[in-house]
Amino acid sequence: MTVPAAELTVDLSAEDEEFAADAAGVHPVFARAPRSVGFNKLRKRLIRQVRQAITDFDMMKGQKRWLVGLSGGKDSYGLLAILLDLQWRGLLPVELVACNLDQGQPNFPKHVLPDYLASIGVKHRIEYRDTYSVVKEKMPTGATYCSLCSRLRRGNLYRVAREEGCDALVLGHHREDILETFFMNFFHGGRLSAMPAKLLNDEGDLMLLRPLAYAAEDDLARFAATMEFPIIPCDLCGSQDGLQRNAMKEMLAGIEAKMPGRKDAMLRALGHVDPSHLLDPKLFDFSSLVTKDV
Ligand code: SF4
Repeated sequence: MTVPAAELTVDLSAEDEEFAADAAGVHPVFARAPRSVGFNKLRKRLIRQVRQAITDFDMMKGQKRWLVGLSGGKDSYGLLAILLDLQWRGLLPVELVACNLDQGQPNFPKHVLPDYLASIGVKHRIEYRDTYSVVKEKMPTGATYCSLCSRLRRGNLYRVAREEGCDALVLGHHREDILETFFMNFFHGGRLSAMPAKLLNDEGDLMLLRPLAYAAEDDLARFAATMEFPIIPCDLCGSQDGLQRNAMKEMLAGIEAKMPGRKDAMLRALGHVDPSHLLDPKLFDFSSLVTKDV
């Protein structure tokens, strides 16, 4: 999974890239994507990482229809494009339904996502729920809104997934989201826990999937910029918690800058746990260790 640094170079400068006008040869989402070697490497790397995550966590087991949560941010646009590409190549035999939840944030540009999704011919549902007013009413003045806002968003997406006959909700969290969550729990929560790539919801009727678990945020940012996704910022409401999360992001970026490749190493460590060398008797039966009779 370690990515050679040279592979990360994507040429975003050339204005007159030759476009893949041959729409019959690509999914419409890639119809205007550049054909540059750098972009193709980036696209293939993301595809490879998504396929790896789907395989490692057996994400397709029992799955027929996925609701792909689309926030309007770079990550979920990238996720949808990669999944469409895999589906188009016959490598992802599930139906995809894209869903955006318009949460009533001030100045939310309502037309952007429906226009984009219609332009690439993707089945979709735009759901309006003014959770923003609920959050403002419930949270004390001066408090940050994001955690309640995200919980309400998740609940509504689960509901839409059920209404749409989907068996999974698919979200665009990536490598950095997972590492930041791990360190937040490590430093502040007193537990070793990250963000699951696959999770069965409490009701047991929907799977939550994160196929971008191995994808780097920088790659997704370059991908989004090159694909010219119509990004909608998430801070239209003027909120943004994330003091702890931002501190983790900065810490991880600092480590990566000093020692390249450490983020991938940390992610690999999360998939290589040695319970007998941790301190949790619930994970390892230390009482079963007995010396042999001499
Ligand atoms: S920035 Fe606003 S819309 Fe985005 S998660 Fe936070 S409260 Fe919700």
